[in-house]
Amino acid sequence: MKSKLFLATLLFSSVSLLAQNMNNVQMPEITRVNKRTLIHVPTMLGYQTLKCDFHMHTDFSDGQVWPTVRVDEAWQMGLDAIAITDHIENYPSKKFVGGDDNSSFDIAKPYADKKGIILIKGAEITRSMTPGHFNALFITNTNELDTPNLMDVFEAAKKQGAFIIWNHPGWKAQQPDTCKWWDIHTELLKKGMLHAVEVFNEQEYYPIAFDWCNEKGIAYIATSDIHGLVENMYDLSRYHRPMTLVLATERTEAALKEAMIARRTIAWFGNFLAGKEEFLSEFFKASLTIKLLSENPKEKVYQVINASDVPFMLKAVSGTQFTIAAYGESVIEIPAKCKGDFEVSNLIIRSNKRLTVKFPF
Ligand SMILES: [Zn+2]
Ligand SMILES: [Zn+2]
Repeated sequence: MKSKLFLATLLFSSVSLLAQNMNNVQMPEITRVNKRTLIHVPTMLGYQTLKCDFHMHTDFSDGQVWPTVRVDEAWQMGLDAIAITDHIENYPSKKFVGGDDNSSFDIAKPYADKKGIILIKGAEITRSMTPGHFNALFITNTNELDTPNLMDVFEAAKKQGAFIIWNHPGWKAQQPDTCKWWDIHTELLKKGMLHAVEVFNEQEYYPIAFDWCNEKGIAYIATSDIHGLVENMYDLSRYHRPMTLVLATERTEAALKEAMIARRTIAWFGNFLAGKEEFLSEFFKASLTIKLLSENPKEKVYQVINASDVPFMLKAVSGTQFTIAAYGESVIEIPAKCKGDFEVSNLIIRSNKRLTVKFPF
């Protein structure tokens, strides 16, 4: 009797459940978990290491996404700060989206605030060679830069306190078989209208431009210059998107700007870091914890824990080479005959020079 009652109850409840769900059955289990990937980099020299991409486009120039999508990408991919840098002069979608150069920032800003992403106001000054393309960051009103005379544009940007980056200096569309610094760039530099250069853009590295940073006292920048979706462009299963690491006193826009003017930046693209020797040396040391596991007359064996997402590829003059895996633990065997320092082949401190380290340190 009891079991019949139970059966009847079960039957009734499942029928009512079915009836109840005939109009709308929710299946939240098939939706994607809203997850932010964390980028692992060490804090160093008392600074926070902020992960930034300062060059990207939207529907408000020649990009193919709405501005808020750039914020979603930045959040999902673990960035701290981005700048949307729509072209001022190359604006094919103007007839569809109107002609206010501030729009992409205005649309994305409230959403960036909600997501905790620092959105820097920027724009791309888009001129033929010379002088080429430039991103003006930390500007306040892009429309004031929308003016035909070249020097007027730079004056307007400077007046707004802009940090100005020369973009893709070795881009073949503008410098087909050279990567040359012109007189106009010296003039801009002298006038305080040039603060940095992209040593990496999208999928191109410009070794010559990298040396300019040291010679001329400007900052190293790596950017995606993304137009479509970031996930369609890069193999994110193997690498983070290209980015600039900025060593800032705190996670604010003002601290970011101060750090960039002080040239505390590292360009990160693929497995390569490019920047000042002191910062890369510190990055290497701050990432690793090394412990001697065992030793015998033939070799020493170390446990190495790497807390950063950058692997380190080491090579000794004697020929011994090994890789410390990214974000994980490695066991490294160093033959007793291996003496002297190691070169880290993926840490670039000059166009033709890699960082030299001691291992263990
Ligand atoms: Zn450009
Ligand atoms: Zn661009």
